[in-house]
Amino acid sequence: MIKFLDLHKVNATYESAFVEEFQKFLNSGYYILGNGVKTFESNFASYCETKHCIGISNGLDAITLIFKAYITLGMLEEGDEVLVPANTYIASILSVVNSRLKPIFIEPDKETYNISVSQIKTHITSKTKAILAVHLYGQLAEMDTILNIAKTHNLLVVEDAAQAHGAINKDSKKAGNLSHAAAFSFYPSKNLGALGDAGAVTTNDDKLAETIKKLRNYGSDVKYVNELIGYNNRLDELQALFLNVKLNGLDKENERRRQVAKRYSTEINNEKIILPRYNHSKDHVFHVFVVLVEERDKFVNYLTDNKIETLVHYPIPPHKQEALKVYSDLKLPITDEIHNKIVSIPMSPVLQDDEVSYVIKVLNAY
Ligand SMILES: *Cc1c(COP(=O)(O)O)cnc(C)c1O
Repeated sequence: MIKFLDLHKVNATYESAFVEEFQKFLNSGYYILGNGVKTFESNFASYCETKHCIGISNGLDAITLIFKAYITLGMLEEGDEVLVPANTYIASILSVVNSRLKPIFIEPDKETYNISVSQIKTHITSKTKAILAVHLYGQLAEMDTILNIAKTHNLLVVEDAAQAHGAINKDSKKAGNLSHAAAFSFYPSKNLGALGDAGAVTTNDDKLAETIKKLRNYGSDVKYVNELIGYNNRLDELQALFLNVKLNGLDKENERRRQVAKRYSTEINNEKIILPRYNHSKDHVFHVFVVLVEERDKFVNYLTDNKIETLVHYPIPPHKQEALKVYSDLKLPITDEIHNKIVSIPMSPVLQDDEVSYVIKVLNAY
């Protein structure tokens, strides 16, 4: 059986370091916002080359706190329109809705599956105040163009970098440092994954960082002094310690993902299977490797029969979810089509060469 993602195998590489960190953690007697969080924040900010990193409880809370901080700072107001990709994980949309902002669903580009910049332009109104760019499947959104549009229209740009830790653009800038503020998730299956829930915000904006730091901790900077209506959205100390260990392996793991992707894109050769566009640059960290097929069920069953595990990212688009039924009348045919045809094939840093060869062989025989 070729697993879609063998998380135990990924984490087993780091086992002795995890055990050592846990022992120190236990002995320290200090379990919340300790040196583990501080060190990770400093390490991850250096990694992304941003001025600030604020550890947050999870990815959804991280995006949401960015919006709530902008509201606290008076830079956004309830009801303001935020352009979001229609083709994304629902958490991107929930962050906007939960901040009482209005999501405007934008169709994806047919080639990259990321938010279409031409569609962004046609959906800007006087109420538009921000763009949430998602680096979906691990591939950077077209940030240069998005930032130019934003500048012209005086919009904030936020990155949802939950799937793109370590992706690098042509100017050697990393995901997390390509907009006004970025949110990361360290959910276990992400490229940089904790052993539980975890997330972070990166930004170069001092005021925003300060506000988010307060909001994540009851609106307080000094213990028992509460300046803002805050939340408990702290990054867990133990997860921060684990993340510090795994951050050292991130670039190597991403490189392995790209090697696998390169083999898939050059060796899978079956006209029934549409491969993702990939120019072999580092702007893609292949959180997942997606292909498009007609009759997805048939394809998935064929792979299951051949002992290859698949997943669908994602089976139902956000605007067709019960939770977002107020948006169900939107016409988003490209988003619908992607959701109908997409399948993710095995992708992880621990896939072996013979496993990759086997997957390629089975796909070519379909
Ligand atoms: C995983 C993910 C999130 C949410 O992260 P959690 O840590 O699970 O809250 C948000 N956006 C995208 C694109 C994601 O893939």
